[in-house]
Amino acid sequence: MPYTITVLGTSSMVPTKERNVQAILLEREGELILFDCGEGTQRQMNIAGYSRAKVRKVFLTHWHGDHVSGLIGLIQTIFNSEYQHTLHIYGPKGTKTRLEHLRKTVDFEHKVSLEVHELHPAPEELLVAFENDDYKVECTPMKHTTPTIAYSFVEKDRVRIDMEKANKKYGLKTGPLAGKLKRGETVTFKGKEITPEDVCFTVKGKKFVVIPDTTLNNSVPIIAEQADLMICEATYGNEHEEKAREYKHLTAAQASLLAQQAGVKELILTHFSQRYKQVDTLLDEAAVHHPKVRAAFDFMKVQL
Ligand SMILES: [Zn+2]
Ligand SMILES: [Zn+2]
Repeated sequence: MPYTITVLGTSSMVPTKERNVQAILLEREGELILFDCGEGTQRQMNIAGYSRAKVRKVFLTHWHGDHVSGLIGLIQTIFNSEYQHTLHIYGPKGTKTRLEHLRKTVDFEHKVSLEVHELHPAPEELLVAFENDDYKVECTPMKHTTPTIAYSFVEKDRVRIDMEKANKKYGLKTGPLAGKLKRGETVTFKGKEITPEDVCFTVKGKKFVVIPDTTLNNSVPIIAEQADLMICEATYGNEHEEKAREYKHLTAAQASLLAQQAGVKELILTHFSQRYKQVDTLLDEAAVHHPKVRAAFDFMKVQL
């Protein structure tokens, strides 16, 4: 099932004239999922044309201001709308307590149910944060100055039936028998046995990975393995490698090296330090390790 990713903010620490702080929006079959919710995310959603009331899940990478400062405003808006769902918020160690505190900072009616999921993945472990028949979201810890987790959104493979072939070869039409074949069952039609292998094929699910603030670590290639798209922080260029290490961030070159190690198909860099008005140099440095790398800008859209 195709889905759309919109990068709502691409700056680190503070919003600039050109770039807002962190948030990535995923839209799939009418459901909106947010990865982080920095200050101003609601307005970025307005501009991008997305309804805040359609947000069902928020996955927080860590509790630094540039990733969470927009959360209370979003919660308040959702709670004031005709929201018929439960809003699920996921985050690293400390998320439950911090959210409790956050809710007390603003006075509004808590009309909607909110469920908070605190995630504690072990290093180099992939922990399933959410799973249904369609997709799963996994997480793994990063190495930053506060508990931080990366997420992968993994669509499940889908079995499809080639109806044209099924019809031509066996005279089969859409209906319960086609459904059985899709579920992997062998059926008999007009005295002929039809196996799923005869008429079915698999559509591979797409994998999208968010790598937030972190220093180099072994969990990145594990969670990003063979991803179709990895959006990764790249706060600094090579000239500030020392700073990146000190503040526990990645350089653009390190991000692309990790993407290459993981066999990622496409890499998009984000979370740029405000010192970079242009990010061309960062892109050049990243291109050394990975053939398909782009720099994110606010409202960038990618279809997967
Ligand atoms: Zn940050
Ligand atoms: Zn941070």
